[in-house]
Amino acid sequence: MKKVLITGAAGFLGSHLCDRFIHEGYEVIGMDNLITGDLKNIEHLFKLKEFEFYHHDVSTFVHVPGDLDYILHFASPASPIDYLKIPIQTLKVSSLGTHNMLGLARAKNARILVASTSEIYGDPNVHPQTEEYWGNVNPVGPRGVYDEAKRFQEAMTMAYQRIHDIETRIVRIFNTYGPRMRLNDGRVLPAFIGQALRGEDITIFGDGSQTRSFCYVDDLVEGIFRLLLSDYDMPVNIGNPDEITIAEFAEEIINLTGTNQSIVYKDLPEGDPAKRRPDITKAREILDWEPKIHRAQGLRLTFEYFKSLSHDELYKKEHKSFDAYFR
Ligand code: UDP
Repeated sequence: MKKVLITGAAGFLGSHLCDRFIHEGYEVIGMDNLITGDLKNIEHLFKLKEFEFYHHDVSTFVHVPGDLDYILHFASPASPIDYLKIPIQTLKVSSLGTHNMLGLARAKNARILVASTSEIYGDPNVHPQTEEYWGNVNPVGPRGVYDEAKRFQEAMTMAYQRIHDIETRIVRIFNTYGPRMRLNDGRVLPAFIGQALRGEDITIFGDGSQTRSFCYVDDLVEGIFRLLLSDYDMPVNIGNPDEITIAEFAEEIINLTGTNQSIVYKDLPEGDPAKRRPDITKAREILDWEPKIHRAQGLRLTFEYFKSLSHDELYKKEHKSFDAYFR
């Protein structure tokens, strides 16, 4: 049985990856410090003998007993609100945390896949974004803590590949959605659906002309699974190229939820990229992958999940305070 370590296991993407690898017959060790993750996302796995959970912060030294075949480094805050609240932890997990994971990969002779992001392209001057584009990132802006940490992560990963000859994979993840997103993490989809369910106004930042391209989580997980098992060791974009303005997206959510809310316009956050769409030629050619789930279907599945949350969860401001973790 192959063994895989997944960091950020209790998060949105990490928990779906745990499910997939268990389903494929792997032994899975999930690791998370639970700052932004939630055990609720993986509690169904605790009864399985193939699953183990370590409550640990990967920014500090990591020890895992025994052999490991694969490491997937997915620990990191990933919403703009989170990295504004916990900028130093955001910087540490993709720099120190990545260094620890690369060291572990080297010690175990394991293949490692690191979760990078479309944020490494910043506010892009090239559209759609190809892997060859180097990006347009402001290091000292509010998003710099995430963008630069992820850029450092890619550089560190390539250095370990070149110097220590370890097997590395880099996935650049574009906006992804689906069940288990945190309702109040500030990202646009849970924000709009939460507002619809609570009967509040929909908040569009700026004039809503900025674009994003949303990928359903199952498609993303399939792409990551293929990339891990492929022979390709340079970065690959995984995302859905179906691009939409945020204003159109708000209309889709209003139609989906059958509500009749007003739209209110708020200031555009500093550094908010004007457009984003992946060029997925590489994923198509190298991994024979492309997204299969149309936004209408993915949004319905996601709405079902949010509708199933309790009244308390719906009205809670945040599922927990970060303060408790940083005394
Ligand atoms: N956004 C919005 N209203 C909200 C939350 C987000 O208009 O209540 C916009 C945000 O300004 C950005 C887009 O939606 O242009 C996507 O934001 P998100 O935080 O989901 O992720 P990003 O792609 O910016 O990292």
